[in-house]
Amino acid sequence: MDDVTRVVLIGFSGTGKTTVARLLADRLGWDRYDTDEELEREFGMTIPEVFAQRGESAFREVEREQLARALSGDRVVVATGGGAVVDPAAWGSELLGKPGTLVVALDADPATMVDRLRRQQAEEGAAVERPMLAGSDPQGRIEDLKSRRQDAYDRAAITLVVDNVPAAFVADEIAGILAQGEASAGPAVRLPAPSGTSEIYVAPGAAADVGTLTRTRWPKARRAWIVSDANVGELHGDSVVASLSGAGFDTRYRAVAPGEGSKSLATAGELYDWMLDGAIERGDVVIALGGGVVGDLAGFVAATVLRGVGFVQVPTSLLAMVDASVGGKTGINHRAGKNLIGAFYQPPVVIVDPRYLATLPPRSLVEGWAEVIKHAIIQPSTPGGERGDLRRVLVRNAKQLTSLSEPATTYVIRRNVALKAGVVEADEREAGLRAYLNFGHTLGHAIEAADYRYLHGEAVAVGMQAAIRIAFDLGLVPIEEVARLDRLVAKYELPASVEVDPDTVMRLLVSDKKRVAGSQRWVLPMAGGGVTIREGVVEETIRRALDAVRSGTVAGTTRLAH
Ligand code: NAD
Repeated sequence: MDDVTRVVLIGFSGTGKTTVARLLADRLGWDRYDTDEELEREFGMTIPEVFAQRGESAFREVEREQLARALSGDRVVVATGGGAVVDPAAWGSELLGKPGTLVVALDADPATMVDRLRRQQAEEGAAVERPMLAGSDPQGRIEDLKSRRQDAYDRAAITLVVDNVPAAFVADEIAGILAQGEASAGPAVRLPAPSGTSEIYVAPGAAADVGTLTRTRWPKARRAWIVSDANVGELHGDSVVASLSGAGFDTRYRAVAPGEGSKSLATAGELYDWMLDGAIERGDVVIALGGGVVGDLAGFVAATVLRGVGFVQVPTSLLAMVDASVGGKTGINHRAGKNLIGAFYQPPVVIVDPRYLATLPPRSLVEGWAEVIKHAIIQPSTPGGERGDLRRVLVRNAKQLTSLSEPATTYVIRRNVALKAGVVEADEREAGLRAYLNFGHTLGHAIEAADYRYLHGEAVAVGMQAAIRIAFDLGLVPIEEVARLDRLVAKYELPASVEVDPDTVMRLLVSDKKRVAGSQRWVLPMAGGGVTIREGVVEETIRRALDAVRSGTVAGTTRLAH
């Protein structure tokens, strides 16, 4: 985000704004401005004293003047007081709404905030009054005040969740967000694989760099074989071809028919004919420009033609960005089932440009959020936990994400890519971790196959809701967590229930190819976060969960209050 020259940190007291601002300013070599500190200096008294002696409205007025002064310059990180952003006037075009200003909210659980404020008070000594901590129930008071201010905090361009995340790490994350506009700054994620590292770039506008990034990886390659589908090709094919030509590639372009039907031996055969008749060479590069269908198909062809040529993934659907383009699975379907013919083939380069999402059909975008939610639920059980609770990131940034606001969308895609890459990498050492990615997919696949009215992501969303009901039935999670997942799924406009024939679903479940030694493995949420794997879930429990998601209830009886 090269046009951002000011960062403003907002959020409740105790979220670490002052410390993060200091660390971030040091890191960037920018100035730092703390509105509370400046106020205390100006008045020569503490914030509570100013409040008591001048009254809140006078206080807020001076606070806004401070903010305007802080934002009058460039290259500055500003920490604001906890209540500074509640007044809509603070969001004016001279203040937080000023162009070139990135407003980042820091969010923490009230319990974390009480903890931090107590620690600060202990460090500063009793002389420093902490009004938030006064009285018998500071946590309750913080909860109440926070919930009243939440709408204001949620106006930030992006909210980071900071519980258990060291301030230095939060500063790094924000610096990363500022740098995320530049693909040239390097890959967002590196996924080591036996065949070589997969470098994954995630940046708005990165598609313009497809040519240079491909050229850097294959300095001597002559030809680039671009495979797309008719929808994506029509919209974005020319610019990718131009980028590759500009980097000195002799470009060849071909679009397949959109849709799952193209993941076939027949379409793969057409691509082999096209490439081999055109004298493809081992040093050439295949570029997959499209959703998961194009990625899987072109990847499989790239893996097998001449026993493997160069391969770049340029995913254009949300599902392909956060899931299908990462991890090296490629393949086509057979009449006996989906993805039954394939190869593991890591793309050495993956280029994710979140701006492609602007043209994605709304229903495809919505179904992509199901995989993002899946990642958020399994996140506590995966590597990379130090980056904070991804589920709460999705809750707090729902508006920004569903409207594809750039800082939040890019950040969340980066985290999802890192999570998937982390799981794939760790799975090589700790076999089984990859199974967590099947959360929601066991019933999801069966629901999808029972009635192709539902898209994959829609079926997975319902599959996750069914899985957490199984977990509830088995005593793994309390009812509140069931309701919490339902609310998250609803925020992303995914379905809460499905109309399917339960007998068909049960029959399909029994024939699932991912069954291990005759026993279905269920990825189930656990209380407090993360997932576990259970086998031997009895049919009655599964049917109860299925009935519940068919009728939108918990365990078939109680309707959930949303
Ligand atoms: P898709 O490729 O069919 O894309 C969905 C639709 O959106 C298509 O009509 C496509 O033309 C269109 N589209 C894509 N990007 C667009 C854009 N930016 N603008 C306009 N239209 C756009 O489907 P998908 O959901 O991306 O992927 C599903 C496939 O991915 C399945 O075949 C599934 O098996 C596979 N998959 C693979 C993996 C893996 O690890 N390899 C993981 C998950 C899913």
